[in-house]
Amino acid sequence: MLTIFDCNYPQMPLAEKFALIRRAGFGGVMLWGGPSSPDFGADRSLENPRYAAMAREAGLTVENIHLPFDDMNHLWEDTPAGAECFHTLEQCLERCAHEQIPVAVMHAEQGKTPAAMSELGFLRFERLARRAEQLGVKIALENMRRAHQIERAEMLLERLDSPNFGICFDAGHWHARLKEFDWLSRWPERIIALHLHDNLDVVTGEGDDLHWIPGNGTIDWAALMPRLPQRLSVALELEPDPNELPPEAFYSLAYERAQWLEGLRTEVVE
Ligand SMILES: [Zn+2]
Repeated sequence: MLTIFDCNYPQMPLAEKFALIRRAGFGGVMLWGGPSSPDFGADRSLENPRYAAMAREAGLTVENIHLPFDDMNHLWEDTPAGAECFHTLEQCLERCAHEQIPVAVMHAEQGKTPAAMSELGFLRFERLARRAEQLGVKIALENMRRAHQIERAEMLLERLDSPNFGICFDAGHWHARLKEFDWLSRWPERIIALHLHDNLDVVTGEGDDLHWIPGNGTIDWAALMPRLPQRLSVALELEPDPNELPPEAFYSLAYERAQWLEGLRTEVVE
């Protein structure tokens, strides 16, 4: 299946956007689980009880949801903010189960400064993994683009060896500068979600995290696609760009590129 994140055109009414995504050819969609905000799109939130239902009514399969991450470093702290962060994430998992959203994408920590290392942080992740098992949903930890973020996620993946605690492989982050962390070879069976997008592989502040349409950057997709698990949808995570194409043209170009990526999966690379 070909899937896309619903984050582009935040001002567009959600029902209209889902219909457009479906009309472009996509069969699946990835949702946003943070609090609703005008910048991200007023109705894009797990707080909206119709969110997943609206996607399904448009004929789309809900593949996964990205949980909030701004406060993730608090999860490692023995503070009221840490307890609050844990509680929010647990509630998100419960909502996922209720809405039959099978996978929740999470970050191990957030930002340029590493989160304080603590046993409490591990224990909270362990409790979230156990809760996910009980609820029948899965947590997918994303490979972020900073070394300390990847190392923290690796520690969690080593310690929490549960079928409900896997990986969201982000191709753009991997390409940007962290190819030495080769999760594709190390944990292929634990990859349960994909974020596919392109960038220029240069370390220039945020310029290495462009979330461009595949084919517009420098990722060697012909080499990468056959390495990704075939059981997973080709899932595009493209971020809003002020100079973006009009919606219809954007989604149809994205769909064209998703089809191209799908074709590359089975081709043998010389
Ligand atoms: Zn991502």
